[in-house]
Amino acid sequence: DLTLENISKSFGEKEILRNISLSINSGEFVSLLGPSGSGKSTLFSLIGGLLKPDVGDIFLNGKKITNKTGYISYMPQQPSLFPWRTVLENAILGQELSRKRDEEKAKMLLEKAGLREFIHAYPHQLSGGMKQRVAFIRALLSPQSMMCLDEPFSALDAFTRLDMQKWLLETWEAYEQSIFFITHDIEEALFLSDKIVVLSSRPAQIKEIIQVPFERPRNESLLLTYPFLE
Ligand code: ATP
Ligand code: MG
Repeated sequence: DLTLENISKSFGEKEILRNISLSINSGEFVSLLGPSGSGKSTLFSLIGGLLKPDVGDIFLNGKKITNKTGYISYMPQQPSLFPWRTVLENAILGQELSRKRDEEKAKMLLEKAGLREFIHAYPHQLSGGMKQRVAFIRALLSPQSMMCLDEPFSALDAFTRLDMQKWLLETWEAYEQSIFFITHDIEEALFLSDKIVVLSSRPAQIKEIIQVPFERPRNESLLLTYPFLE
């Protein structure tokens, strides 16, 4: 599980996050909602170890990971693809183990995501939504037990978004990962998550935590909600 203990963060005089304490249990799917500019992405950068909190610590399964990278699969809000690497290379980046198998799986996912012709292309040849899909596939393939996704579907059309939501639920159910997921879409949060954490505006504090009364498996309810997809 992931535990945030009393996290506070300011940028200069600007106080962004105040006293955030939160736990995400193993296997839990938690969404994070809050006003634009409230500090959601900042919180994810802290969890991903790219920023250091002014106060507080972050623990993963009891181990302190404050200001350490590599423990969490983190998909930032702006897809960070390496411009000098191909789409396929970007998708399997960071996978050390069983590269061959990962490469096959990555190819399969890229094809299913409509990127067949772009597998050997470079990021600058892709649209924003395509880049987002590549970054998302990279996150899906990474083996960490905790995945942080910062608005992963914001640039996608409605149909592609439904596909990606379904893949995410499938991966989550297959690998029993914990997921922390930022979205502005309340319906998406209600549909996907076990729990919704709502931040107040700046300085962001936890305003409320909503337990979502859904029963699994949600993949089936997705198709019930959108039967025309079949
Ligand atoms: P959105 O929903 O629009 O993505 P957000 O909740 O993710 O918003 P953040 O990106 O975390 O918000 O930004 C929170 C505040 O912190 C903003 O006012 C932003 O200008 C400021 N901020 C973010 N990163 C930095 C930085 N590196 N230096 C200074 N200020 C920053
Ligand atoms: Mg953000």
